[in-house]
Amino acid sequence: MVQLKSAREIETMAAGGKILAATHAEMRKAVRPGISTAELDAVAEAFIRSHTGATPSFKGLYGFPASICASVNEEIVHGIPSPRRVLNGGDIVSIDIGVYYGGMHTDSARTYAVGSIDAETQRLLQVTEESLEQGIAQARPGNHVGDIGAAIEAHVKRGGFVVVRDLVGHGVGQSMHEEPQVPNHGKPKRGAKLAAGLTIAIEPMVNAGSAETRTLPDRWTVVTIDGSRSAHFEHTVAVTEDEPLVLTR
Ligand code: MG
Ligand code: MG
Repeated sequence: MVQLKSAREIETMAAGGKILAATHAEMRKAVRPGISTAELDAVAEAFIRSHTGATPSFKGLYGFPASICASVNEEIVHGIPSPRRVLNGGDIVSIDIGVYYGGMHTDSARTYAVGSIDAETQRLLQVTEESLEQGIAQARPGNHVGDIGAAIEAHVKRGGFVVVRDLVGHGVGQSMHEEPQVPNHGKPKRGAKLAAGLTIAIEPMVNAGSAETRTLPDRWTVVTIDGSRSAHFEHTVAVTEDEPLVLTR
């Protein structure tokens, strides 16, 4: 069942989303060659908890052991932070963060360059982030989730990359994962209809090579099947009677 949020609930999510956006700003400062993904996790957790009432949504969610997901290079999502995973110049790291505040979750991811990266990887990041904006622009009452997916997929295709189909965006609010599913592909006017008060996480995952995925033996980390690199950008967005409201900007 799709749960529409009250204006008050959306205000609460905006407050949590502000903490989440600030946490990403801390990640941007912290990401550098030589830092481990466990250190990034510690920075994020301490920063979130420094805000009274805020906790990391992911810690313990389905048994996940950390506050962020940190996915390096060919890792698409759900990478487990580790002191042994040290970032090198030229890597990319996708950092996915959830904040629980005032009874509501928000969810946002960004892929960061570690030091300087090659031009093709830079383009992968740019096209993925642009595709998120294309998707957000479709988050309007009367549109359908298919309009969001179609806009994302079209932009990614134009860029010469592919969207991951095995993983999708989702409703978010009282729970981290709510209905409806929000795929990164689709057909206009298909799928669940959007209404004011719907809050969704839109999150294109884009691969430089094959769209196929597999899960590592750690049972969390999802990687590209061909080892090609993958980028992930995500915002929590409220559908309103006016413009789409990005709660995690
Ligand atoms: Mg996320
Ligand atoms: Mg999400």
